[in-house]
Amino acid sequence: MSHSPKPNSYGELVKYAAGIRAGDRASLARAITLIESKRADHRADAHRLVQELLPATGKAVRLGITGAPGAGKSTTIDALGTYLTARDHKVAVLAVDPSSSRTGGSILGDKTRMARLAVDPHAFIRPSPASGTLGGVAAKTRETMLLCEAAGYDVVIVETVGVGQSETAVADMTDFFLLLMVAGAGDELQGLKKGVVEIADMIAVNKADGDNVERAKLAAADFRGALNILTPASASWSPPVITYSALTGNGVPELWAQVLQHKDKLGATGELAERRRAQQVKWMWTMLEERLTARLRSDPAVRAKLKAAEAAVAAGTLAPTLAVEEIAGLLGI
Ligand code: GDP
Repeated sequence: MSHSPKPNSYGELVKYAAGIRAGDRASLARAITLIESKRADHRADAHRLVQELLPATGKAVRLGITGAPGAGKSTTIDALGTYLTARDHKVAVLAVDPSSSRTGGSILGDKTRMARLAVDPHAFIRPSPASGTLGGVAAKTRETMLLCEAAGYDVVIVETVGVGQSETAVADMTDFFLLLMVAGAGDELQGLKKGVVEIADMIAVNKADGDNVERAKLAAADFRGALNILTPASASWSPPVITYSALTGNGVPELWAQVLQHKDKLGATGELAERRRAQQVKWMWTMLEERLTARLRSDPAVRAKLKAAEAAVAAGTLAPTLAVEEIAGLLGI
């Protein structure tokens, strides 16, 4: 078999799909390479592959995890992941890290950060796609998630660092969005960025071990107080605040129990299915908007016009509404 990632015929594509459905890691890895490729023909093949595999997707628990650098994301994923693979789950770990396109490599999903899971035959770890806008990186991770589901991974963990816009992107592709915190020096609530707390389905205070247990409990109480003043997104789920230790594993089973409880409760009310439906549609629109914007910026005539219009709008000599009319007119929209 060729080592080229490109399935150059429908027959090849079907073979890839069969390999993925059979849980073959090499097929999965090659298919992800297609998704991440800069070549349009590769990506077109990848889209066909995802479409082909779509009926085999959707059965996983999709868990998003965020937290500031050092909060313990990788230690937690290592602990939770090995807890799950020991219970017959197959765990895929993906990451959304748009900054990796600037640094040239992903800090998230780096296998050395998850020592046990990296050598676990029931786990699959894939670093963040390293190029593109947040929207582009998120779209690739989404498609990768679908491929992993088709390959039989029944828990997909998507990790992102809690410093930017990527939290929303990850919350928009997962069933349960987990915010990791630690009892830190200074104001406990400083790390609570309001926007992120609002989309969290649970706050878990890590490093509740040794002489840090009490401080973690106090921090949890503070977070509970902060959450109390927010209206929960769902009438059937008030985001809990728990403490645990990724290092000792204490509280990790309870953490997972909350994820399952959320799945049961929101599954029963239909909210989970609705969340996924809304995510799918939002994803479609996001991609469409990205495509339109790309078109806007790539057309030379439009680009020149945009530049002139931007300057005129900034100078106050052209009304923004008229500028939009003129640019849209060039595109015929
Ligand atoms: P990340 O940047 O969020 O992925 O954080 P890491 O998982 O790399 O953890 C950062 C540091 O905190 C490492 O030195 C870990 O060993 C330590 N750490 C992570 N979890 C725990 C924990 O539960 N207890 C203690 N005491 N240290 C932890």
